[in-house]
Amino acid sequence: MTPGPTYVDEEVRAALAKPITNPDIDSDFYEYYQNTCSKLQKLMNTENQVLILSGEGILGLEAACASLIETGDKVLCIDNGIFGNGFGDFAKIYGAEVSYFKADYRKAINLQELEEFLENNHDFKVATLVHCETPSGITNPVDKLCLLLKKHGIITVVDSVSAIGGERLETDKWGMDIVLGGSQKCLSAPPGLTFLSISQAAWEVILNRKAPIASFYCNLANWKDWYEKQWFPYTQPISDIYGLRVAVERWLEENNPIDRHAKLANAVRESLVSGGLELYPLDGFSNTVTTINIPKGVSYQDIYDQMLKDHNIMITGAFGFLKDKVIRIGHMGENCHEEKLYLTLKALDLTLRSLGVELKGELDKLFISAIKG
Ligand SMILES: *Cc1c(COP(=O)(O)O)cnc(C)c1O
Repeated sequence: MTPGPTYVDEEVRAALAKPITNPDIDSDFYEYYQNTCSKLQKLMNTENQVLILSGEGILGLEAACASLIETGDKVLCIDNGIFGNGFGDFAKIYGAEVSYFKADYRKAINLQELEEFLENNHDFKVATLVHCETPSGITNPVDKLCLLLKKHGIITVVDSVSAIGGERLETDKWGMDIVLGGSQKCLSAPPGLTFLSISQAAWEVILNRKAPIASFYCNLANWKDWYEKQWFPYTQPISDIYGLRVAVERWLEENNPIDRHAKLANAVRESLVSGGLELYPLDGFSNTVTTINIPKGVSYQDIYDQMLKDHNIMITGAFGFLKDKVIRIGHMGENCHEEKLYLTLKALDLTLRSLGVELKGELDKLFISAIKG
C-alpha cells in the first residue's frame, strides 16, 4: 500500500506473458503502439501527440528537459516539495539558468502568489511543475497554474507521474505543453514505462533549437515522425507495452475511477484525523497518497516492521527532510479499493496501539463510517 509501484492485476500480468513479434519490423506492432497512445490521449484528455518511452517516469522528465532546454535558457522551477525542487536539477543538467518559485512545503501552490511573482519575473522559456508531490501527499492546482503560465507564453512541463489516473487531468483545456506519467502508479502496470503528451508549441521549441539535443535516449525529436517513417529510435519493450495497454483499457472501462480515488482518499483522511492523527499537508490533499506525521515516541522503522511482519502490509515513509517524520499510505490504482484500505487502516490501528499510541477511535471503523457519510 505504498505510493507506487502498485499491485498489478492478473489480467495485466497475463498480457506481459503473451508471445511477442519483432516490434522493429512488424507493421501490426506500429498500429498497436499507435492505438495504445490513442488510449492514453483519451485518459489524458488531449489531442496532443503521446509517446511511450522505455524507462521509468524519470525518463519522461529528463527527456522533456533534454529536448526543450538549451544552455542559458531561463527555466522557472515551481517548488513546493522534494520532486518540485529536484526538477530544477534536471533542468540544470541541460544548461538551464534556473529560478525557483519557492512555496510552503505543507501547502499546494497558491495561484495568487504565483501571479504576483510573475508580474515582475516572467521572462522564462520553460516552467516545471509537479502535479502531485508524492512525498508530502499534496496535489497542486495545475489547471489554474498552467493557464496562468501560458498567458505569459511559458512552456509548461508537468510531472503527473503520481497523479495521472487518480486526479482530474484536462491536458488541452488547461493548456499543458508536456505532461508525463509512469506505468507503475495509478495505472497499476509494472514499472518500466513513461508516457508523455507534447503540444504543438513544445514541438516547435524542440524542432527549432540552435544547438542539437545532447542525448539520444532523451531526444524527443527522434520520435517526431515515427509513424509516418515506420521507424522507432530503438527496439520497443513490447511486453511492457502489452501490459500497459491492458492497464489503460481497464482504467478507461471503469465508470469514473477518479471519483473512486477522491472518495476513498477522503475517507482515509477523515478516519485518520478522527482517530487523532495529524496529516502532513495543510491543504491540497492528494487523491492518491496520504502523508501522516509520525506520532511522538514511535519510529518509522517500528511502524513499518510491525505492519509488514504482523499484518503483511507494506506502507512507507518518505525521504529527504521528511525521512523518519512521516508515514505514507498509497491509494493508487489497484490499491485504491475499500477492502484494501480497510485492512490497511485496521493494521495501522493495531500497530500504533501496540506501540503505545493513544487513538481516539478505531481507524477501520472510522473509515467505514466516513465512507457511509
Ligand atoms: C514516482 C514518481 C516519479 C518517478 O520516480 P521514481 O523515483 O523512479 O519512483 C516521478 N515523479 C513523481 C512525482 C513521482 O511520484
